[in-house]
Amino acid sequence: MDITDIKAENIKKILTVLRFSSGLTKRDLASIVGLSFSTVSNLCNELKDCQVLYEEKSSDYSVGRTPNRLIFRCEKFCSICADLQEENLLHLAVLDFSNRQLFQHTYDISGFTHVEQLITQISNVYQSLRSDPAFREVQFIGIGVSVPAIYDQRTRRVVNATSPLFNDTPLRDLLSHRLQLPCYVDNEANLCALSMRQSHTDSDNILYLHSSAGLGVGVVCDGKILRGSNGYAAEIAHIPLGDPEIRCPFCHSYGCIENDLSQRGMDIFHFPGLSPDERQRLLEDRGRKLGELISILVNLFDPSVLYVGGSGLVEYPSLAPYVEQVLRARSAMIMERGLPIVHDTDSLQTIEQGIIQVTYEKWDPLAL
Ligand SMILES: [Zn+2]
Repeated sequence: MDITDIKAENIKKILTVLRFSSGLTKRDLASIVGLSFSTVSNLCNELKDCQVLYEEKSSDYSVGRTPNRLIFRCEKFCSICADLQEENLLHLAVLDFSNRQLFQHTYDISGFTHVEQLITQISNVYQSLRSDPAFREVQFIGIGVSVPAIYDQRTRRVVNATSPLFNDTPLRDLLSHRLQLPCYVDNEANLCALSMRQSHTDSDNILYLHSSAGLGVGVVCDGKILRGSNGYAAEIAHIPLGDPEIRCPFCHSYGCIENDLSQRGMDIFHFPGLSPDERQRLLEDRGRKLGELISILVNLFDPSVLYVGGSGLVEYPSLAPYVEQVLRARSAMIMERGLPIVHDTDSLQTIEQGIIQVTYEKWDPLAL
């Protein structure tokens, strides 16, 4: 690590502590991040010169001189968050570095036949926001896209997508070129896991099982998101735990678990005329399969918390008793330690916060 990397790392340590605080003195900052007062002071002065931080004068004169507090101007920096988890829909949002949502809209893209139409739609919204007076003081730092697919780090293409619109396309390079912004593309479950990692800094092992158009798991393992050598790690869609009679439309094998546990496998709960008995049998079937999948995942990764979310798992509270029954049988040691299984009822917000987290981590505040 050279001196520039060390400086960048120290700056991020300072900003990360300030990001969700109401401001801290240089002395408090130095003690929290474990750097000398002079290092913290010099770096903060540079960040003030770049308008990233400002100093709030203390108004408390009752107990002598109180040092000024440094405050991170989180509201000045934002990212576009594009979410493609639901078939035929594009969710676009803009969040600032304090996770505040500045804009949100959903677009029907069912008529799109080429990825260029998607790029143009996102670019048009970006251009209109940039000319909006409400965004005059805001800097766009990047764009992040959540896909029910894998981003292949080697070929820079989106692969294994359930939608042909962006499958096998260089989505990241296309967007980055058109918007002239750094772009980040990742699987929705990875973004959810990254988002939860940011809010659980004390936990190094987190799983997020996400179900929508696809079925995926994001794994934070020993503090890092698990990716593998190509970015394909923790791909669970084609594990043969599903109905052995159903042929998978993607890999053409039989019994892929994604067919049972993604949105298309859960839509059956909304079929008109479903009798209470049929509903009960289906709940038991899906709950048992979900339990078997989760038992494999928790046995492999031993997480301290497991999240389930996405439009395909809105029924989770009704599935939970069957899931827990399987887990008690197959993952007894982990369950005896009290593994919390948390139903995330707003996974879209979680994805957006994951995108903001990645944009923030990749941002170089001194390169403005
Ligand atoms: Zn398959």
